[in-house]
Amino acid sequence: MYDAIVVGARCAGSPTAMLLARKGYRVLLVDRAKFPSDVVNGYYIQQHGAARLEHWGLLDRVRASNCPPLYRITFDLGEFSLSGSPPPADGIAEGYAPRRTVLGKMLVDAATEAGAELRENFPVHQLLRDGEHVTGIRGYTTTGTAVTELGRIVIGADGVNSVVARAVKRRNLQCSASAHLLVRCPLERCSDRRRGVLSAKSPYDCWQLYKRRSDCRAHELPP
Ligand SMILES: Cc1cc2nc3c(=O)[nH]c(=O)nc-3n(C[C@H](O)[C@H](O)[C@H](O)COP(=O)(O)OP(=O)(O)OC[C@H]3O[C@@H](n4cnc5c(N)ncnc54)[C@H](O)[C@@H]3O)c2cc1C
Repeated sequence: MYDAIVVGARCAGSPTAMLLARKGYRVLLVDRAKFPSDVVNGYYIQQHGAARLEHWGLLDRVRASNCPPLYRITFDLGEFSLSGSPPPADGIAEGYAPRRTVLGKMLVDAATEAGAELRENFPVHQLLRDGEHVTGIRGYTTTGTAVTELGRIVIGADGVNSVVARAVKRRNLQCSASAHLLVRCPLERCSDRRRGVLSAKSPYDCWQLYKRRSDCRAHELPP
């Protein structure tokens, strides 16, 4: 019986498993992928994410992977591009965009170093229940053998098509952009054109703001 079973071992799952294991809990971390594992999209870690990695003692591993620090970002919206430097988070001024193969492996390694047990190539198909209470998972090994594992809690970190979320019949929560863009304002009506920035949740929102020029809000850029 595990204290916690975490399904999905990328950005959400591995740090969750790591933090629980660091607290002394017995944790099973499972993923249908085998790490290092690539995915189609890249990954820009914003300052708040980099600050988390620093807090967990992992940011030096990203730096040691030869991943360059990024101080300025540009969103190319076709008609114009928006560039700026996000404000530091907890003293971390830079973002990073490591290869997913590098980041994913680094995170699962950190989880196992903390004591979590990692099981790769292990797709979870079903949650076990005792009445309304989820008691564990059922998955399959690469040879097709069904395996059940029991846990006091099962944590779904298995992405947008989460088997865990579906099994407990929860609506998938809408992802919201975690960061606001801080970009030099391209708008003529902005009160402080030299230092103005748009605050928006996504490049799309910036584009909407651009189209509704009267909504432009000026903020101070950090020094
Ligand atoms: C095109 C694109 C670009 C993006 N760019 C950025 C960016 O630059 N910066 C940023 O911060 N975010 C970015 N995002 C968002 C980011 O990718 C997600 O927020 C993030 O990957 C979510 O991490 P996660 O760990 O929750 O899930 P995922 O990364 O989806 O990981 C889920 C894991 O669960 C495993 N899994 C799934 N089902 C099962 C199962 N049944 N059994 C066992 N394992 C299972 C999968 O193999 C996978 O390893 C981007 C997204 C997209 C689509």
